Amino acid sequence: MSESLINKLVRSDVLDMIAYQSARRGQTGGNCWLNANEAGGNNQLDISLDNLNRYPDFQPSELVNNYAKYAKLTTEQVLATRGADEGIEVLIRTFCTSGQDNIVICPPTYGMYAISAKGHNSQTTLVPLTSELQLDIPALTKQVGNCKVVFICSPNNPTGDVVKREDIISVIELFKDSALVVVDEAYIEFCPQFSFAELINTYPNLVVLRTLSKAFALAGLRCGFTLASKDIITMMSKIIAPYPISQPVAAIASAALTSEGLAVMTDRVKTSIALRSQVEQFLDKQTWLNKRFKSSTNYVLFNTELAPQLFSFLTEQGVLIRNQSSQLTLENCLRVSIGNEQEIQQFINAVQAFNQSINQSTSNN
Ligand SMILES: *Cc1c(COP(=O)(O)O)cnc(C)c1O
Repeated sequence: MSESLINKLVRSDVLDMIAYQSARRGQTGGNCWLNANEAGGNNQLDISLDNLNRYPDFQPSELVNNYAKYAKLTTEQVLATRGADEGIEVLIRTFCTSGQDNIVICPPTYGMYAISAKGHNSQTTLVPLTSELQLDIPALTKQVGNCKVVFICSPNNPTGDVVKREDIISVIELFKDSALVVVDEAYIEFCPQFSFAELINTYPNLVVLRTLSKAFALAGLRCGFTLASKDIITMMSKIIAPYPISQPVAAIASAALTSEGLAVMTDRVKTSIALRSQVEQFLDKQTWLNKRFKSSTNYVLFNTELAPQLFSFLTEQGVLIRNQSSQLTLENCLRVSIGNEQEIQQFINAVQAFNQSINQSTSNN
């Protein structure tokens, strides 16, 4: 039978692998999507579809110029990728020898580092964050010499807060002769003062990941950037696909990175931060709340014993948020993305309906 042929042919480690359960794969339906940290707004864009008979440039120059200017780096320090996810994958494929080299991650954190490592047959060593959700420097010190790439997510997804600046610098210095330190800044537009991008000029082993999927409201575009020394970008350019950025993507992304586009993004971030504090205040009033995590992003993580019930109630109401309970130390934690005003109102209404439903069931008992 063909199925057993495929089972025989496939890499044995892929046969056992569990695919990443993205918000668009694991959770379907609903009419209020607050499960993927997307922006609530939309972009008004007008692009030309001429010249689609031609291959695009390997790195479209207007796009790279605009991003370099925004990040205050040179164009040689920028690699445009198919989302930040492709940056993660290309880093691992460029620097880890399959079946031999390891990466280090600090859970609870973003899931794609481990998935990309697995796809390349690289091992992932876990160095969990401390109970304050900060880096465990003594434990990381023990990994010096045992890994090629260390991934730090700051602000961290799904917990929401930034990692201490001096700790990240300690880690970059710890690994300065033995590994790359990758700071994933997917949410940095919500707290730009914490960026490490400028330190690329100081530390040759530092890499910063960026995306247009969150603050720029362009998740559907699939466009991200790796920021690093010219030497790192040169090596990654050997491994990445020959035409990673399609021409329509380059045109839309370039427009989003003009000064007008950046002004729209900055306004959207302000709106999102105001809505976030509304959600935080609302959550803080809930009697069932155990803990609400500090956020420097467009999402809020919270802990409640009623997580499973609340999550299914919201799903029934069409409001999709993300259950983070399977992550290390995040049992009973739910993450809600800060969508637009109407979506946040729908979330609040659905939570209030949930409260009524539990009050009714307690008074009936
Ligand atoms: C969303 C996200 C990404 C992926 O971004 P894309 O550009 O959409 O691939 C990477 N890292 C973190 C922490 C994210 O939350």
